[in-house]
Amino acid sequence: MSTLTMKFGGTSVGSAEAISQAADIVLEHSQDWDRLVVVVSAASGVTDSLTQAALAASSGDEQTYEAVVSDLRLRHYGVVDTLLTSSGARSPLAMVDRYLEECAAFCRSIHVLGEATPRAMDAIASVGERINARIMAALLLQRGARSEAVDATELIVTDATFQKAIPLMEPTRAQVTARLVPMLAEGVIPIVTGFVGATRDGVTTTLGRGRSDFSAAILGDCLDSDEVWIWTDVDGVMTADPRLVPQAQVIPVLSYSEVGELAYFGAKVLHPRTIRPVIERGIPLWVKNTFNPTCPGTRIVREAQNTPGTVKAVTAIEGLSMVTIEGRGMMGVPGIAARTFAAVASQGASVLMISQASSEQSICFLIPTDTVQPVVQAIEEEMALELKRRDIDRVWSLDDVVIVTVVGAGMRGTPGVAARTFGALGQANINVVAIAQGSSECSISLAVVADNAANAVQQIHSEVILNG
Ligand code: ASP
Ligand code: MG
Repeated sequence: MSTLTMKFGGTSVGSAEAISQAADIVLEHSQDWDRLVVVVSAASGVTDSLTQAALAASSGDEQTYEAVVSDLRLRHYGVVDTLLTSSGARSPLAMVDRYLEECAAFCRSIHVLGEATPRAMDAIASVGERINARIMAALLLQRGARSEAVDATELIVTDATFQKAIPLMEPTRAQVTARLVPMLAEGVIPIVTGFVGATRDGVTTTLGRGRSDFSAAILGDCLDSDEVWIWTDVDGVMTADPRLVPQAQVIPVLSYSEVGELAYFGAKVLHPRTIRPVIERGIPLWVKNTFNPTCPGTRIVREAQNTPGTVKAVTAIEGLSMVTIEGRGMMGVPGIAARTFAAVASQGASVLMISQASSEQSICFLIPTDTVQPVVQAIEEEMALELKRRDIDRVWSLDDVVIVTVVGAGMRGTPGVAARTFGALGQANINVVAIAQGSSECSISLAVVADNAANAVQQIHSEVILNG
């Protein structure tokens, strides 16, 4: 028995044309699989609007949520009007009304209370997925398939960490078996709301922003899917950001750890944690383009075969600052790094890259620029004594720094990748301000000033990836 789980992201269901195209894809593939489950996101931008509406209501603003609700009504009515032309298929209109009325009622009480609790935020944020699941199911019915919308509140059981709930796999598996398996056995295509779950008591939760992939992975795992396909608006995971590098290409196969490095270093295609359930089970996962469905996309597997010495992608993260702590008195003194990073953590800043040379005369690390001021201050306070004694000379920061990362498990155990990378930068006269390589040897990161970032990415792409 073959099972396929597919998920459509926000832009793939973001307009009538997109939904129509997504439905074509579902119909085309439903022939080839015994069981097919479809997960849908909210239309692009809808979750943002819903969240804004709730936050505005909590700050005393009565207009915004009303405007958002009527915008969303118009937007979804427009989609229904375009797509659902047969009279029997127009029932989603009533659901659009119902969900948006609920949403307005929630915002009204948030406005009265002056507070948006995480629980209320989830009730509101889940509306976009609920509406889209109804529209998609109705469209498939109209086109002659058997399909039914299913709220993931009936399937995915989570803890009560609202806005970033953690799924509880055992009860989820039981619910999926009870609710989805019989539908699938009858040849029905369930259209499940992504992003949404519920506590054991049935209170709506969400899995975190952008996490409808997670929903697909959870269902793929619970249903023992043969494959999971993530439909998005790009041809797959690319060798570089195509806006920066027009010659960027689709990467045919990536391993899970490479996806992890890429996601961490700024490629927004997939969040590695969200796909872990399927990768751990060895279920292949594909990233495909709804708007170019014949392109095979990127296949993500647990372990990829790599040609030694090759690199798969280069990415950049912007908006960073580099903090340096320097002083000759740090040499051989234990605890300086621990205290430094405790001070960083006390400010809630996340560190993206660290480097310390073995001379131990400086430690430097990169953090988002919006956290740099409190971090530098916290370190100065922590090191007040060392600064006074001149064991530490100074703590300083440099803004407008970008991390450029070269990713590929093929560099593991193979000399030369670093040399080619730095050679490419040297040729272009680009100065590197800091370097780090993890011992997993799956990536090399280097910091450059923002003015050099685009050039650095382009040079590495042409010299190291295309000529690899
Ligand atoms: N609609 C949700 C969001 O925008 C989930 C998703 O699209 O993955 O965050
Ligand atoms: Mg989205």
